[in-house]
Amino acid sequence: MSRYLDAKYQPLVAYVPGEQPRDMQYVKLNTNENPYPPAPGVIEAVQAEAGRLELYSDPVCADLRDALAGRYGANRENVFVSNGSDDILNFAFMAFGGSGDRAYFPDISYGFYKVYAELFGHAYCQIPLREDFSIDPTDYLALNGFIAIANPNAPTGLALSRAQIEDILQSNPEHMVLIDEAYVDFGAESCVELTAKYDNLLVVQTYSKSRSMAGARLGFAIANAALIADLEKIKFSVNPYSVNRMTLAAGLATLKADEYCMENCRRVVETRRKTVDRLRLLGFEVLDSRANFVFARRPGSDGGWLYRELKARGVLVRHFDTPRIRDYLRITIGTPAQMDVLFEKLEEITKHPITQ
Ligand code: PMP
Repeated sequence: MSRYLDAKYQPLVAYVPGEQPRDMQYVKLNTNENPYPPAPGVIEAVQAEAGRLELYSDPVCADLRDALAGRYGANRENVFVSNGSDDILNFAFMAFGGSGDRAYFPDISYGFYKVYAELFGHAYCQIPLREDFSIDPTDYLALNGFIAIANPNAPTGLALSRAQIEDILQSNPEHMVLIDEAYVDFGAESCVELTAKYDNLLVVQTYSKSRSMAGARLGFAIANAALIADLEKIKFSVNPYSVNRMTLAAGLATLKADEYCMENCRRVVETRRKTVDRLRLLGFEVLDSRANFVFARRPGSDGGWLYRELKARGVLVRHFDTPRIRDYLRITIGTPAQMDVLFEKLEEITKHPITQ
């Protein structure tokens, strides 16, 4: 830390992304990327734009917002896009996170919520998950502040129903409710359709998971026009060109082949089902995931130890060394072949035969 860093940022603890080691070729099941390549046509679209890099990108992102509006039954003024959904979460915490007494989010959830609350100096309250790691929706009724919920939640993979979220929206009319649907396409109920009914709802999604574009950095949000205008105001006060030409083109080309992406989601869900069965056969307890990862522990096996043993054998999974969840591994669902490698190594480590 230099002596020039503003005092208010000195205590800030930054988010720690999943590791990307380069010492060897790993089976990467640690950052919830999609194991399948981007949609047909995406690479060509990116290459065409790469020839025009001397020109700025469209700050309004008109074509992509129109295409997303068409896909989700909304209008351009209801759609916001930026550089990954992290960028949108950042803007949302900046714009809305300081309302009321404090910002509310679950104690075990996407680690960035806490970082953003601290970055912007907002008071916040982390509401404990139940013993079984589910969110108790009644904890979120009639609160006095901004609410952020990942649905499905990460790293648990557990989801709330649309009806449960609607209760939260109805009981907090004075405050914004952000529903982070990064993983929704893998089997949870989306709240996008509720944005037409509730002016306090912001739904945030990403191309990183279900649309195989983590490296391109593209996120979008859907909400009523006034909330989107607020986000645009913030974006145009920070960096109007936050989405580059190649990513805009990739986003458009991906939507043209959306059925390819949705089919990949179904493949991931099918692989998830088999993965859960195989993990249980190996003695793991696995939460009911609606996401492209599973959260599991093996009673009697230390989570950190399992993580290290897997890494030594070339398989990366995510381990959080924090209270309540340090026994758990978060394992991204890869291709069936990648999962076979995982189980080959797990079998070796746990010395249990896998019977199928
Ligand atoms: N929300 C949740 C719950 C996530 O797990 C992630 C991925 N780390 C994100 C948002 C951010 O995704 P991206 O910035 O790649 O769109």
